[in-house]
Amino acid sequence: MKTYRIATIPGDGIGKEVVPAGKEVMQALAKYSKSFAFDFEDFDWGGDYYRKHGLMAPVDGLDALRDKDAILFGSAGDPDIADHITLWGLRLKICQGMDMYANVRPTRILAGIDAPLKRCTGKDLDWVIVRENSEGEYSGVGGRVHQGFPIEVATDVSVITRAGAERIIRYAFKLAQARPRKLLTVVTKSNAQRHAMVMWDEVAAEVAKDFPDVTWDKELVDAATARMVGRPASLDTIVATNLHADILSDLAAALAGSLGIAPTANIDPERRFPSMFEPIHGSAFDIMGKGLANPLGTFWSVSMLLEHLGEHDAARLVMDAVEEIASNPHLHTRDLGGSATTAQVTAAACDFIAKSMQASELAA
Ligand code: ATP
Repeated sequence: MKTYRIATIPGDGIGKEVVPAGKEVMQALAKYSKSFAFDFEDFDWGGDYYRKHGLMAPVDGLDALRDKDAILFGSAGDPDIADHITLWGLRLKICQGMDMYANVRPTRILAGIDAPLKRCTGKDLDWVIVRENSEGEYSGVGGRVHQGFPIEVATDVSVITRAGAERIIRYAFKLAQARPRKLLTVVTKSNAQRHAMVMWDEVAAEVAKDFPDVTWDKELVDAATARMVGRPASLDTIVATNLHADILSDLAAALAGSLGIAPTANIDPERRFPSMFEPIHGSAFDIMGKGLANPLGTFWSVSMLLEHLGEHDAARLVMDAVEEIASNPHLHTRDLGGSATTAQVTAAACDFIAKSMQASELAA
């Protein structure tokens, strides 16, 4: 019996509701599994921790995560704390501190979900956005001088290294190669940003030579937004810089029906460190504590976590539960136009898992 060590970091807002829901789903799986178990460690980092200690997480916080097999994360954001403090103090500290350089965001319109692109079905919109997660526009290089004076200067320097571009573009080509359509779109802005993005394009053309079976094209980021709405079926795997992919993936999540469904994986492809899985949405303070949060994005993230651990059957089962719930309007939370609660959706997912695992045990 394999025991996976899992860190859970609910963070802030509805993260405190959806991460426990994700943990319940994992516990439901473990209850019936003969091959794996989970050893959870919960971390209370985030806005409340900051109010007590002046930091979003302990200085040596990463040490407690390094020996884990995976991390399930909720969100970081607090109405009383500046966004750059919550983001850099927790999520980016973990992602950059453990070099999780590939941020992977699948998007599909699930059957039963009323998505804004009316003519679209799941077949027309089935994307994976690969976001560079370690440098670029969010490298943290920059500063402010003459603060508060009229001559104040502030800079945020986008840093793109050849090695950083190469490793993420190669990761995206490999992912595209593993998907049925073998299709990759490299998002750029090399018309206006004539240094780093031109190098980005050059690297893409070089890496492409190693993947002759992958069809690839280049798209400017502004044109990419229009293409996502106008010709969604022309896209499959998409790779973009940190900022570009951040924006494109929120658009993707909204086009698929709700921010509440979309998952994210922050992957260290070399597996030197644990990878971290989280719903794409933020802390959503407007609905916090009301039982309205849609946990499906977290469940889909749990499915990606299990896939990363190599537990393919369990990953598939959790995804089946997500699709089953999506197809049942009685189990839709308010963001999907329904009135189901977080607890009801979670119970339905656990029930689906229990029944499926009992049935397969009987069949075995
Ligand atoms: P942050 O500042 O932490 O990034 P936010 O609160 O500004 O987050 P999001 O959490 O990304 O924004 O979401 C925007 C809105 O979408 C929320 O205010 C909420 O109404 C809705 N929403 C997001 N996630 C969910 C969810 N899981 N279930 C239901 N509604 C959601």
